Amino acid sequence: MSSVATPSTAGPAGEFRNESPTDFSRRENREHFRQALATARGTFPVQIPLVIDGRRVETADKIESRDPSHLERIVAISASATVEDTDRAVAAARRAMADWSRQPAEARAEVLTRAAAVIRRRKHEYAAALVYEAAKPWREADADVDEAIDFLEYYAREAVRLASPRRLQGYLLGERNDLVYTPVGVVGVIGPWNFPFAIPTGMATAALAAGNTVILKPAEQTPLAAWLLVRALEEAGIPPGVINLLPGRGEVCGARLVTHPDVQMIVFTGSREVGLRILREATSVADGQHYVRRVVTEMGGKNAIIVDSSADLDSSVPDVLASAFGFAGQKCSACSRLILLDEIYDEYLHRLRDGAASLKLGPADDPATQVSAVIDEEARAKVQSYIELGRREATAVYTGETEARHAGGCFVAPSVFAVDSPRHRLAQEEIFGPVLTVLRARDFEHALEIANGTAYALTGGVHSRTPSHLDLARREYQCGNLYLNRTITGAIVGRQPFGGYRLSGVGSKAGGPDYLKQFLVARVVSENTMRHGTASLITAESAPDLD
Ligand code: NAD
Repeated sequence: MSSVATPSTAGPAGEFRNESPTDFSRRENREHFRQALATARGTFPVQIPLVIDGRRVETADKIESRDPSHLERIVAISASATVEDTDRAVAAARRAMADWSRQPAEARAEVLTRAAAVIRRRKHEYAAALVYEAAKPWREADADVDEAIDFLEYYAREAVRLASPRRLQGYLLGERNDLVYTPVGVVGVIGPWNFPFAIPTGMATAALAAGNTVILKPAEQTPLAAWLLVRALEEAGIPPGVINLLPGRGEVCGARLVTHPDVQMIVFTGSREVGLRILREATSVADGQHYVRRVVTEMGGKNAIIVDSSADLDSSVPDVLASAFGFAGQKCSACSRLILLDEIYDEYLHRLRDGAASLKLGPADDPATQVSAVIDEEARAKVQSYIELGRREATAVYTGETEARHAGGCFVAPSVFAVDSPRHRLAQEEIFGPVLTVLRARDFEHALEIANGTAYALTGGVHSRTPSHLDLARREYQCGNLYLNRTITGAIVGRQPFGGYRLSGVGSKAGGPDYLKQFLVARVVSENTMRHGTASLITAESAPDLD
């Protein structure tokens, strides 16, 4: 039986369980997915409107999203929101707050778990869209959809957990203290293209589960994924205005959302440059604005894996290759620095070179593809400029070639460069493509010092069979998610709550027990229960005649 058809046993009342990945080793699943790819191609270009107050709105300006593997294929043509459209969406979200915020948490959770069921039923259809819109290879696209389902199911349960007033422990008789959480207000959600389904779903549905209303602004490159999410929520019964879809340009509708006086919170995932700008702009208080806007920004990384001489190289090399070049290195968690201890440096590079040379570059709809195209021409030019920098200033360990058949897409073959200085730009800047920088360390302490020596702190890894090294890494490795003896990508909701600190982000970990609280205001109600007597309600009828 196809894994798509398998119903989940985890309803809102059950325990949270992660969605199972599709088993593509089974022929029926492969065939089903091939069909889904063909069906998806038949729908292109998908026309995507704005969704404001449940209504479809067209705009004069349009944005095309193209398949990075075949640039001639237009995947979607989306509307592009103006500042005025943004204001209308915020007004709709504000109106919808009155009812949505007062719904019981269970009712909101039910809508979200129904949306999860819709997506689960159409998992291959959704994943196929990501294969074409974001050039996600089969497994990566499948995992993106699974993560979205997990977010819906997880945050629905979290909202119910946080909803009942909590009696605070007290030792004084005659006093009652309750902690209650109430929604923040209208939330602007600004998403990236690299997890175009999972990340906007996570950010938006956490806000919704907590009783807020949302304006969702997807990345210009991937409006289709957001459109699919909004349609699943609509099918699940979300009331008009509770989620509004605002595809458009970051500097137009995104910028307006960030400073709109009726948007109480911005939750963003994307680059450091835009994230820091949003932090500056969103926290300024306009005349007459009676609150400081909350801001959550998940930003970039320059993640490292340290390998010492006790590591099992048979598993380390494939893990490093998968972490560095999976989805063409375009995961915020991707490995972009490899720190090798002196004594294994040469042997490791020898193996790594062979491994990198064996990776298959190709279009995302080919199931054999390991390294897909990067998202667009701008990304390709940026990654290419780092490769040229490496050719000029570093030692090329491996530089792959693209072939004539790759000419129609944004392909960049994997490259590995070794640098002497940890301060080199290749070792400091987020490249966001299939480029790995290798550094040499004297000993494990030196390796940790190099790993910690960037502005970022997102993911990190260690491959070692030396317990004292693993212990030291647990204590001293400065990153939000540390992985020992495994890949450093692929965090799973509930199991590996995800997020960084320093310039990698501000906020609590997504998919973890603290995340939802960011979308809630905590209030404490204290009552003196030693009141003397009671006041009965005096009505005109019951009032004693005092004459
Ligand atoms: P980006 O910053 O270019 O764009 C992100 C979003 O911001 C888009 O929707 C864009 O339209 C919008 N935007 C752009 N300018 C804006 C402005 N002035 N005001 C408001 N919104 C604006 O990022 P990207 O290229 O889409 O994503 C890649 C980046 O995201 C990488 O740096 C990656 O590391 C990071 N990322 C981080 C995480 C994490 O959890 N830490 C996860 C995924 C991606």
